[in-house]
Amino acid sequence: MDFRKLNNGIEIPALGLGVFRMENEKEAYNSIRKAIDLGYRHIDTAMIYENEETVGRAIRESGVDRKELFITTKLWNEDIANNNEQKAFETSLRKLGLDYVDLYLVHWPIKNKYVSVWSEMEKIYQTGKARAVGVSNYQENHLQEVINLKSLVPAVNQIELHPYLSQEPLVEFCTQYNIHIESWSPLCANKNNLLQEQSLIKIGEKFMKTAAQVVLRWNIQRGLIVIPKSSHPTRQAENLDVFDFELTVEDMQKIDLLNKDMRVGPHPDEVGFSS
Ligand code: NDP
Repeated sequence: MDFRKLNNGIEIPALGLGVFRMENEKEAYNSIRKAIDLGYRHIDTAMIYENEETVGRAIRESGVDRKELFITTKLWNEDIANNNEQKAFETSLRKLGLDYVDLYLVHWPIKNKYVSVWSEMEKIYQTGKARAVGVSNYQENHLQEVINLKSLVPAVNQIELHPYLSQEPLVEFCTQYNIHIESWSPLCANKNNLLQEQSLIKIGEKFMKTAAQVVLRWNIQRGLIVIPKSSHPTRQAENLDVFDFELTVEDMQKIDLLNKDMRVGPHPDEVGFSS
């Protein structure tokens, strides 16, 4: 496992388990427990995934030392719209059964709230109950408003990113401010036939790796953090097994060429949440 150092000095495993759409409690619990047994130490949840309690129980019962785990959760839009940030954070902690999270993210940019929500995130950071705070789905213009505050810089921006949406300009912008990128739906949510792309399959054949592993490795070699979701142990193991090969410069370029700025999720500016 590789680690990234965030802009406040804390370390995060470069690959984590996403747990979106793991609502069935029993299945989610078993999947998360299995993933931890396989070696996952970074879990990405959110209030809106409705599984914080399950994540909390799975990590408690895993027997793995809390300090070895990196747990992220996120502040939901309605709590931003209703100025309920502090209570929402405490509720997430309570559901997770934790004294602190490693990373707390603003889930989506909410119009007219980019600055006010960030002040609330700073307050949370100052309590020490979130070891780092960041944002998700922020475009350059949203981030610029936060950066203009000349205060705490988000540690992370978690965005949709895969070979069909390589996000080069936003990655470059974030890198300039030492904001780490986390890629959500890194496998394109297994949609749009990304994993059937012949160029990915061909690259994988050279290393005895699957297209999914090639895509995850491409993220790692770009210096990104990546959080693939799988409920199945065989795929969880496959997704974790990406630290023993190195794509060539040509391989990386070929994958870069697949970009077509195509999203599987909503565009952040088109997410119609009220302000
Ligand atoms: P992913 O790109 O991680 O794809 C998940 C899908 O791919 C599932 O259907 C899974 O099926 C399948 N899959 C997983 N591994 C493999 C593999 N090796 N080969 C073939 N298929 C595979 O999409 P997600 O949308 O789940 O994104 C990952 C995480 O990102 C989420 O779980 C969440 O934590 C985060 N996220 C954050 C968002 C945000 O707004 N901040 C938005 C969306 C996601 P199966 O489970 O059956 O294996």
